Amino acid sequence: MYILLMGPPGAGKGTQAEKLIDAYKIPHISTGDMFRAAVSQGTELGKEAKKYMDAGGLVPDVVTIGIVREGLAKPECAKGFILDGFPRTQEQAVALDGILKDLGIKLTGVVNIEVPDKDLVDRVTGRRICKKCGATYHITFNPPKVEGICDKCGGDLYQRDDDKAETVKNRLAAYHSQTEPLISYYKKQGIYINIDGTQPIDKVYSAVKSSLDSRK
Ligand SMILES: [Zn+2]
Repeated sequence: MYILLMGPPGAGKGTQAEKLIDAYKIPHISTGDMFRAAVSQGTELGKEAKKYMDAGGLVPDVVTIGIVREGLAKPECAKGFILDGFPRTQEQAVALDGILKDLGIKLTGVVNIEVPDKDLVDRVTGRRICKKCGATYHITFNPPKVEGICDKCGGDLYQRDDDKAETVKNRLAAYHSQTEPLISYYKKQGIYINIDGTQPIDKVYSAVKSSLDSRK
């Protein structure tokens, strides 16, 4: 099972990835994790990426692609993976095809969890996180018993800067302009799976799983 997970911020990719790694016993690979690993292991590419990150700039594609190549070549990815956060652009998708070809891997499916923008803004801006234990809440869909206080540890809840309305709108605009064109790219390859992400979490999961199982 070589799965690519796509979808706008707030579509529930993290939740679905957790369920899929349990079901298929394959690792969840995010670009964030690959970056952190490369930096902490001090690989050449990790050092290169750190220079840009420390300066607060974007890591250039050639470095990002190199880190993805290193990450996917690790033995734990040989039998399968769920990749998330990459590719973000068509150039990166072409590069990923090259990496997979070199590794002798064919993607089982590209799962896109589709949710309309309006719902996403509500989902993301309502998110609150505990400062102490990291537990997540939603002011409407999953509120704490006492407003602003974590049920589990009594810590204060806060809103991440990334989850504020203006930032969410910018993230969505970037997603639509850069990542959405990937849909037609993967449709042409016949591996694109579209899932209605407005359904309850369990319905989304069973739709994802049955489409993937039918492609095994
Ligand atoms: Zn807490």
